[in-house]
Amino acid sequence: MTHKATFFNFDHWGLGKEYLQSSDKLKAAGVEAAFVENVLNANNVPTGPNADFDIAAVFMDSPVDAATIAALPNVKFITTLSTGFDHIDLVAAAARAIPVSSVPAYGENTVAEFAFALLLALSRKIREASARVKDEMKFTTDGLCGFDLAGKTIGVVGTGHIGKHAVRMAKGFGMKVVAYDVIHDDAFAAEMGFPYISLEELLAQSDVVTIHAPYLPTTHHLINAQNIGLVKKGAYLINTARGAIVETAALIAALKSGQLGGAGLDVLEEEAAMKAGDVSVDRELVAMSNVIVSPHNAFNTREAFVRILDTTIDNIVAYANGAPINLVK
Ligand code: NAD
Repeated sequence: MTHKATFFNFDHWGLGKEYLQSSDKLKAAGVEAAFVENVLNANNVPTGPNADFDIAAVFMDSPVDAATIAALPNVKFITTLSTGFDHIDLVAAAARAIPVSSVPAYGENTVAEFAFALLLALSRKIREASARVKDEMKFTTDGLCGFDLAGKTIGVVGTGHIGKHAVRMAKGFGMKVVAYDVIHDDAFAAEMGFPYISLEELLAQSDVVTIHAPYLPTTHHLINAQNIGLVKKGAYLINTARGAIVETAALIAALKSGQLGGAGLDVLEEEAAMKAGDVSVDRELVAMSNVIVSPHNAFNTREAFVRILDTTIDNIVAYANGAPINLVK
């Protein structure tokens, strides 16, 4: 074997380990797969014989910052098993000429389906309804009146891979769609029959806002204390993109005041700290009764995971063959 790829945070990916270890493509490219249970970060860099890997394969929960990269002198390629790559310091990687690849598309429908799972859980009070029967053994419907999606307006922020599926699904529910994106796909908009409008207009018009933009300096706190007041009174916010796209303090204030009726969140601004065991962060938001939260789980289906592994294998093989693909910038 001429390359060694170490996969981090593989404790819960039993299927993945077997899949990667038996990959003929990796074997043919001379790549040995190794596994580390924990995430990769500056305090958790493999040492001794485990340090001899040239390829680091990480999930989005590994903060590959400048200090981590500096502590990995042998690493020549980083690949992330995610679409988002904001957990990797691309400047520090570039300074060492380390190419970075991601999985540009694997869960377009998967994540959009989850956004609607969060929305339907809120709109039809699924948590409360289930608890009524399971916890209280009561078969009553008082207080469980929800609202229809049909006829409501959904504002889709970011009409890329995932956002497009969200648009299609929304249309399937009979919703009116409006969208905001810095790039307009006019052919798709014409095909699906929705307008691109400004973010401010979207916030004012939408009964539901669903976020599908990447986390970038330009999307940091895209929804913030200045513009959250524009939201239609009682609207719902769904965020399956990245926590820091929404200013947490502004979100909490809007949920408290009733400006927002509820929020379905798969991502939190402080989720990395929470994952690391800090229970003090985002606590107020998580505890709110009109908020439903999941632990960055939107991508997590069997089908999506196999697509992630296949693309990651292709990324590693392409690097091993001297022509990396799916590079991020
Ligand atoms: P994509 O690159 O295909 O689409 C992103 C869209 O956002 C593009 O159309 C882009 O033009 C638009 N955009 C960029 N900057 C914007 C801005 N300032 N305002 C509005 N729109 C802007 O990405 P995708 O595959 O659709 O994924 C979107 C995001 O979803 C990812 O970046 C990732 O952070 C997140 N994601 C989350 C999970 C999860 O499990 N929760 C899984 C996969 C992806």
